Amino acid sequence: MTLVDTPNNGNSRNPFLSLDYEPALESLGNDYYDEVAAADFLQHILRWRNDAVLPTLGLDPQAVTDQDFIDAFGLFEGRKPLLALRYHGYQFGEYNSGLGDGRGFLYGQVRGTDGELYDFGTKGSGKTPYSRGGDGMLTLKGGMREVLAAEALHRLGVKTSRCLTMIETGLSLWRGDEPSPTRSSVMIRMNRSHIRFGTFERLHFFKRPDLIGKLLDHVIEQYYKHLIAEKDKYELFYSELVQRVAELAAQWMAAGFCHAVLNTDNMSITGESFDYGPYAFIPTYEPHFTAAYFDYSGRYCYSNQPGICKLNLDMLQEPLRAVVNKADMETGLSKFEEYYHAKYCSLMLNKLGFTDLEHPEAEELVKLTIQFLHDSQVGYHQFFYEMARTFSSKWRDELGFILEGSELAPPLGSSSVFDNWCLIYHKILNNYEPEEIDVIARNLTYYNPKTVLLRPVIEETWEAIAQEDSWQPFYDLVKRLQNGE
Ligand code: AMP
Ligand code: MG
Repeated sequence: MTLVDTPNNGNSRNPFLSLDYEPALESLGNDYYDEVAAADFLQHILRWRNDAVLPTLGLDPQAVTDQDFIDAFGLFEGRKPLLALRYHGYQFGEYNSGLGDGRGFLYGQVRGTDGELYDFGTKGSGKTPYSRGGDGMLTLKGGMREVLAAEALHRLGVKTSRCLTMIETGLSLWRGDEPSPTRSSVMIRMNRSHIRFGTFERLHFFKRPDLIGKLLDHVIEQYYKHLIAEKDKYELFYSELVQRVAELAAQWMAAGFCHAVLNTDNMSITGESFDYGPYAFIPTYEPHFTAAYFDYSGRYCYSNQPGICKLNLDMLQEPLRAVVNKADMETGLSKFEEYYHAKYCSLMLNKLGFTDLEHPEAEELVKLTIQFLHDSQVGYHQFFYEMARTFSSKWRDELGFILEGSELAPPLGSSSVFDNWCLIYHKILNNYEPEEIDVIARNLTYYNPKTVLLRPVIEETWEAIAQEDSWQPFYDLVKRLQNGE
């Protein structure tokens, strides 16, 4: 990684600047954003480049230099306009009309090699008209935490934004939740869209049904393309959003992830997970586990996530009513639990080693798994990892072999929930031929990586940076998360 103190001007061959930018949001007119300028930073030190996402942009990682990242995303050379997006949102249940991109902007939109439109959104790039009392900046630790969350979730199959790059910017910031002064960064997020539920809520607040319709047409055109020609495309859009969000909630729950701040300004209209602040992976299956220190009532605790997502979808009906039939939206929303449950069950079965399992007791197995994890409070991730580590074809032959050698399993006969769990697991394994058992072993290993982004792991990685400016543990951790090691 390179330390650059002087701007490198005239880098016209920068591959990021030669991408085919599409002014998709910009072309809607300036009702949805304000043009802003990026801050000038003292320093630009490339701390992270996500080579894994470059092929989606049609870029060969070998052909992109560290300097290219810095010029494009630290110095902000050659890209205009930069758009601070306008939005409002319900924060902890209260409507806030003072929101909007307060420390970021839409840098540009690019068509990926998969044909999909992607946003490059900044975080920590300076003040905007929406900064209110804030400094427009992102701490280095905050940037690092978002990089880690996105890579971990992506590997775990959660539909998420990724971070393209993170550049340290040389400022000293003061924060109530970090030892201060603390270091600063700019992080570039790559996701499908930064249009939020709150983007529509703002237009409703200003009584602009015309702008709601225009934005919804844009959303369908770009992110729900298959619906464009449908007669009732608006109703179908809402129903599909319900499904996408329900499935996202299931993905978080199975991954043991608590997003922490599910305000409507953090809910994407594409049903994708993004904006990782005080998130946490759960240490044990504790339904009331709450990740944000300022979430005093536990509103966004681990087990509330599906319910809150449904509530946010319900509230979104208010602005969408301008265009979408209300009764149809109600019908769409009534399927939330069904979508959620089906997805959650299938993801948990993956974690238990099965794909496409149609055993009558499959659901019961999932239920007992959760009950055991809840009652015993053994490590949530550790339990599944131990299954992967100790799995043997002998589990098919005899109950007593299941989780043998694992410290997590109570001895048979000491927990009726565990015994029942073993019984069903054993019964299901008996449906498989001996040669198919290897597939289950491989599934267990794939779906339950050893490296888990628990808080102590993040803190330890950050301490190496904070104390010794040692970045290798961070790079090693990202690699392990990306590879599912
Ligand atoms: P978040 O909690 O990151 O989703 O942010 C909620 C709102 O606060 C958004 O409108 C952000 O743009 C704004 N915000 C958060 N941190 C800052 C900051 N340091 N400076 C300015 N605005 C901020
Ligand atoms: Mg946010």
